[in-house]
Amino acid sequence: MALYFREVTYGGIAGFYDYGPLGVALKRNITNLWWQMFVNEREDMFGIDAAIIMNPKVWKASGHVDTFTDPLVECAECKSRFRADKIDTSKCPNCGKAGTFGEARQFNMMFKTNVGPVDDDSSVSYLRPETAQGIFTNYKNVVDTLYPDLPFGLAQIGKAFRNEISPRDFIFRVRELEQMEIEYFVDPHKWEEAFELWRQNVHAWCDALGLDKNKVHELEVEEADRAHYSKRTIDFEYDFPIGREELLGLAYRTDFDLMNIQNNSGKGMEYTLKGSNERFVPHVIEPSFGVERALMAVLAEAYTEDEVNGEKRVYLKLPEHLAPVRYCVSPLLKNKPELVAKAREVYASLKKKHGNVMWDDNGNIGKRYRRQDEIGTPYCVVIDFDTLEDDTVTIRHRDTTEQSRLSIADLLTK
Ligand code: ATP
Repeated sequence: MALYFREVTYGGIAGFYDYGPLGVALKRNITNLWWQMFVNEREDMFGIDAAIIMNPKVWKASGHVDTFTDPLVECAECKSRFRADKIDTSKCPNCGKAGTFGEARQFNMMFKTNVGPVDDDSSVSYLRPETAQGIFTNYKNVVDTLYPDLPFGLAQIGKAFRNEISPRDFIFRVRELEQMEIEYFVDPHKWEEAFELWRQNVHAWCDALGLDKNKVHELEVEEADRAHYSKRTIDFEYDFPIGREELLGLAYRTDFDLMNIQNNSGKGMEYTLKGSNERFVPHVIEPSFGVERALMAVLAEAYTEDEVNGEKRVYLKLPEHLAPVRYCVSPLLKNKPELVAKAREVYASLKKKHGNVMWDDNGNIGKRYRRQDEIGTPYCVVIDFDTLEDDTVTIRHRDTTEQSRLSIADLLTK
């Protein structure tokens, strides 16, 4: 069933993916969980939603125009292009010929566009390559309107665009991605404790995604490999089926961004500590989460094979709160109107309560169970002749394949 699509009409483009009905449901469950954990449940966090296309001065001041680059090499033999830091450049990975790469050149990954009807240098802007800058440029609006206590954080979920040289590995490296980012503003003397708290929050997030603790690793990034503005960075890596790779990042960005904005815009970014005259430009801890990588980790973690009655079974062991479909409801037989009517009643009540409930009366019950196993539905509810007598249903559990009886009343309060 449709988790994601490469669109079939014109074939799509590398690095861009469309999500089908189940994919979008899974993705939403992930982004909603993030918003719930990091915004709704906290007193010190506030949401924003900035525009994707911003004043190009933002990207000049942030350093993206000059330095948001990857090293690009081209094979003189087959003309394939690669990111120099991701391959062994002694031999072309495409044609296999040795010594065909020259010097790497820096390739800027921002997608350029023109704003308005005039197509010249004065109208150039960019699709944002990260959501973070939209938070920094709105920091002052939030301080001036809400004046939250320090430390506080701003959170945003949204699309970002990177013209990756080699998009690859399904949705691991795409050109249109979604980020969930937080800029957490702190007293410069207190950055270490805030960093530690966010380190723990990141682990709590990985737990909430259902990721095995043993597959999540912290990589303390060496100074030479850190972004120039960062004083400390931890890359959180996950053991994906493609290998151990970055899932998300946690960085201490100092006052780099706010000072840049202050210096370039002439607008003061200082915060006055409540109850004192102490003023300073806050420092920033940035946990930066990628939606696609979270989704890919969740899928990899959930993919399970076992054997049921001597037959191989493939199912997704998704946590209940992430599963695209939570309940599937069926009448035992679809040609018995009394069963169908009762099943429709149960379906309507469950759907009203949970939303992500599916109706399925195709094929035999066994086939329905397998279809739901494949998409990770935790519970299948079957309405049979006993239901008409005693208002109980059969509930079949995805992971154990066991079936039990439950009253409709209990099902609806579950
Ligand atoms: P990488 O080293 O893998 O290119 P990065 O260090 O450039 O990633 P950041 O700029 O720190 O990544 O972005 C924060 C997060 O956004 C990453 O941890 C990742 O989850 C996600 N992300 C970044 N680029 C991509 C991409 N091209 N496709 C999918 N997710 C991405």
